[in-house]
Amino acid sequence: MSTKKVLLLPGDGIGQEITEEARKILNWLTKSKGVAIEVEEALIGGTAYDETGTPLPDDTVTKGKAADAVLLGAVGGTKWESLDYSVRPERGLLGIRKALDLFCNLRPAQVFPQLADASTLKKEVVAGIDIMVVRELSSGIYFGAPKGVETLPDGRKKGVNTLVYTTDEIDRIARAAFNVAMKRGKKVCSVDKANVLECTELWRDVVTEIQGKDYPEIELSHMYVDNAAMQLIRWPKQFDVIVTTNMFGDILSDEASMLTGSIGMLPSASLGDENALYEPIHGSAPDIAGKGVANPLAMILSVSMMLRYSLGMASEADAIDAAVNTVLDQGLRTQDIMQDGMKQVGTAEMGDAVLAALG
Ligand code: NAD
Repeated sequence: MSTKKVLLLPGDGIGQEITEEARKILNWLTKSKGVAIEVEEALIGGTAYDETGTPLPDDTVTKGKAADAVLLGAVGGTKWESLDYSVRPERGLLGIRKALDLFCNLRPAQVFPQLADASTLKKEVVAGIDIMVVRELSSGIYFGAPKGVETLPDGRKKGVNTLVYTTDEIDRIARAAFNVAMKRGKKVCSVDKANVLECTELWRDVVTEIQGKDYPEIELSHMYVDNAAMQLIRWPKQFDVIVTTNMFGDILSDEASMLTGSIGMLPSASLGDENALYEPIHGSAPDIAGKGVANPLAMILSVSMMLRYSLGMASEADAIDAAVNTVLDQGLRTQDIMQDGMKQVGTAEMGDAVLAALG
């Protein structure tokens, strides 16, 4: 097998701590499994701003384009909140998604049986849920122009963001969702606000047309975003694949993740035609950064997702998933998923336990 190149972007806050645990897994892959993985590292987010004056240095984009996959910790933090929006850490993340043309965000929300009690919802509502939120990632209101805040002649201020989707952008995310659904339960729910937003009326039309033309086996339904937010809490097991716009997906995927109990457990993939980026769904958690208590499992499961979707190493991915299950069976918990009678461990201890379970 040819050498695979992985670019590691620790970023900010707990990103720095959890990527150390990912590095341990990557080292295990090369040392114990003889897998040829070359790991490079680069700057992103507030850390990059502090060193270079920009949250996304050109060097990071160049290395990201050359890599087979990018593995990101998290960006952001209170330290950088007063900066101009154009150089905030989050711009680094939006920027690299755009630069690598990562238009499809896969966010699984699965409940680990050992953690079904960790959800704030009743166990019978969440046990067994397996939802994949497919979020459009490179367009929509986060990128549309015009945008910004301007001062009007009478002194009032006006803030503007613009929701834009073109047919080709909707086409490719719809196909991505249908392709994912074909490997799962063949059910797709497209979420929009077509009763109010013309742009998402177009979204609904294009999604419907593609399903009718090329995916007759898929059972397609449509739901307004406000109803979807409610249905996710009321009866989450009705969903298989949800496909939606950038902003609706941002919100609904966080909601779906909380059904599972902890955002510290969930990985994500952002895919383009040429590139891919894997990261935990959570942020840089400034409230616990530097304390060594962050849950590294979402990061470790992001490594597994990367092996499965980008590096063609499904058996190694299976081994990592099994090791995570083993440490949960052993009763090890970081503070965010702590339960009565379990043993609380820190970030490094949890990473070491996964390594030990890998053998
Ligand atoms: P967050 O996900 O960082 O934290 C939300 C809560 O979850 C916090 O209480 C935190 O302690 C906890 N948490 C998150 N990850 C955890 C983990 N692995 N283990 C244990 N607990 C964990 O979201 P936030 O507080 O809204 O944002 C903090 C910063 O992160 C902001 O600057 C935000 O812009 C940024 N952010 C970055 C990303 C990203 O890099 N992809 C995503 C979301 C937010």
